[in-house]
Amino acid sequence: MGNINSKGINQNTYDAIVIGSGISGGWAAKELCEKGLKTLVLERGRNVKHLVDYPTMAKDPWDFPHRNDLTLKMKEDNPIVSKCYAFREDAMHFFVKDKEHPYVQQKPFDWIRGYQVGGKSLIWARQTQRWSKYDFEGPARDGFAVDWPIRYEDIAPWYSHVEKFVGISGNKDGLDTLPDGEFLPPWEMNQAEKMLQKRIMGNYKDRNVIIGRCAHLTQPKEIHLQQNRGKCEARNLCQRGCPFGGYFSSNSSTLPWAAKTGNLTVQPDSVVHSIIYDGKKNKATGVRVIDAHSKKITEYFAKIVFVNAAALNTNLILLNSVSTRFPNGLGNDNGLLGKYVAFQNYRGTLSANIDGFLDSYYYGRRPCAVMMPNFRNVHKQETDFLRGYMVFFSAYRSRGHFAGAEQMGEAFKEAQTQPGNWHVSMMMQGETIPKETNQVSLSKDQKDQWGMPLLSISVDYDDNDEKSLKDFLTQGAEMLEKSGCKNINTNDSKQAPGLDIHEVGGVRMGKDPKTSLLNKWNQLHACPNVFITDGACMTSTGTQNPSITFMALTARAANYAVEELKKGNL
Ligand SMILES: Cc1cc2nc3c(=O)[nH]c(=O)nc-3n(C[C@H](O)[C@H](O)[C@H](O)COP(=O)(O)OP(=O)(O)OC[C@H]3O[C@@H](n4cnc5c(N)ncnc54)[C@H](O)[C@@H]3O)c2cc1C
Repeated sequence: MGNINSKGINQNTYDAIVIGSGISGGWAAKELCEKGLKTLVLERGRNVKHLVDYPTMAKDPWDFPHRNDLTLKMKEDNPIVSKCYAFREDAMHFFVKDKEHPYVQQKPFDWIRGYQVGGKSLIWARQTQRWSKYDFEGPARDGFAVDWPIRYEDIAPWYSHVEKFVGISGNKDGLDTLPDGEFLPPWEMNQAEKMLQKRIMGNYKDRNVIIGRCAHLTQPKEIHLQQNRGKCEARNLCQRGCPFGGYFSSNSSTLPWAAKTGNLTVQPDSVVHSIIYDGKKNKATGVRVIDAHSKKITEYFAKIVFVNAAALNTNLILLNSVSTRFPNGLGNDNGLLGKYVAFQNYRGTLSANIDGFLDSYYYGRRPCAVMMPNFRNVHKQETDFLRGYMVFFSAYRSRGHFAGAEQMGEAFKEAQTQPGNWHVSMMMQGETIPKETNQVSLSKDQKDQWGMPLLSISVDYDDNDEKSLKDFLTQGAEMLEKSGCKNINTNDSKQAPGLDIHEVGGVRMGKDPKTSLLNKWNQLHACPNVFITDGACMTSTGTQNPSITFMALTARAANYAVEELKKGNL
């Protein structure tokens, strides 16, 4: 670490530093700035200004050189990220390209990243469900990982706090397995989905079929208008950045809101190398930052540091933050930093045909699917595998058949006006069990172009995941059959972990510093002025989409941090 510029200590000193400007970092910035803290957000990627930097948001398919598809060359250059459904011509500028940011795959792991102001909040699929009490109780009841140090009641008010600001559409379904939130009006199921809902719920007393919940403004409230955001127009082009601010992103929502306080500084192109620990003060004093272009190193100082670099990069930064006191990474007294990583099992899918409904059509592009909250092992252990899975499905009408070889021209256009038959597709989102062997570490001999060690990932499925997958495919086929669907196909994509993009853990919360890294307020047990509130903090994964929980944990921790600062405890 030669050539460090730490001269301008005053100039580089803030009340709080937030590492990463994505979904969770944006929330940390908002809460801390609103409470009056001068906050520096350090972001390794380029700046992306809402609206100004969405170059494809208003383009039509024919405006793209390859009609929004990927060329063979693009796929060859990006064998990993091109597997992600949203990596297309219209949004590839918001994804990390494989060659630019290598990592070590001890086992296959498709690591999908977005390095820019806004992080992956620009490109996420915006599905949001609260955890239930059963999810927080899971590890203790079933004897895996460690007990969560919090329960549903601890986070419920923070879910409400976040949902009101973000704007979540959903229906009040009254389910204990998927608690209701502060919802805007829900999207509507189509006729075929309503039929499936009726038949599945009629056949299975333990299964509920509900409309998806997602971060879209179906009917903006005053708080959303104050953010200059408008109604979702169901364009389903969200990953390009939304001209209406119809879906939630850091860029459209939390960051501009934080900026309005006058307390926010966002510094793009700033790669955080490590957190500075002062052994005399027994606390972190700031961070070391590498300029993404000049590679110059600068130190920044603050009373508290929030690490929100997304789960695995947060692990990387902490592992790289070595000092005499912490030779194995910041806060890593028990050697568990980087371990007990988990993800979600997306391998199982089904498809089938639905007869009838030929007089029924639907318009618009709904940004959510139909959901079935987990019904496996909820109230007690019932199967030969632990935990369960959420099911998503959508029914849709295929477009008219067209026999021509060229998918273009007048005949093709004509064919598109003729609706075809109805189909249903179904997928699982399975909970995986965090294990010590599923872990990340720093490469000993390989570095990136900024001199940072490459992250080495060793994460895999296990027997529990195989059994859960098999159960989903069996249950899914049975549900569709009982609903009268035909030509039911089951599929195991065998996709590697990572492509679910729901990786969590490595810096887990817990009650005991011997078996966890973070306490119930997301503070490092061994360095309490450092807060980890992205997915790295998660003790287990649940079956829900994770980001709303990261946001709620972040808001909760940020408010606690401010209280503790006021009391002089940090
Ligand atoms: C296609 C897709 C679909 C998804 N769908 C959903 C969904 O429907 N629901 C859901 O809940 N989740 C979904 N996700 C996952 C969701 O995007 C993530 O859970 C969420 O963005 C995590 O928030 P975060 O703040 O931890 O990380 P991010 O949003 O990724 O932000 C992290 C930021 O930290 C920056 N950073 C990293 N390292 C450093 C460093 N060393 N120095 C400085 N900055 C750094 C990054 O550049 C990035 O901007 C999806 C993701 C993708 C890609």
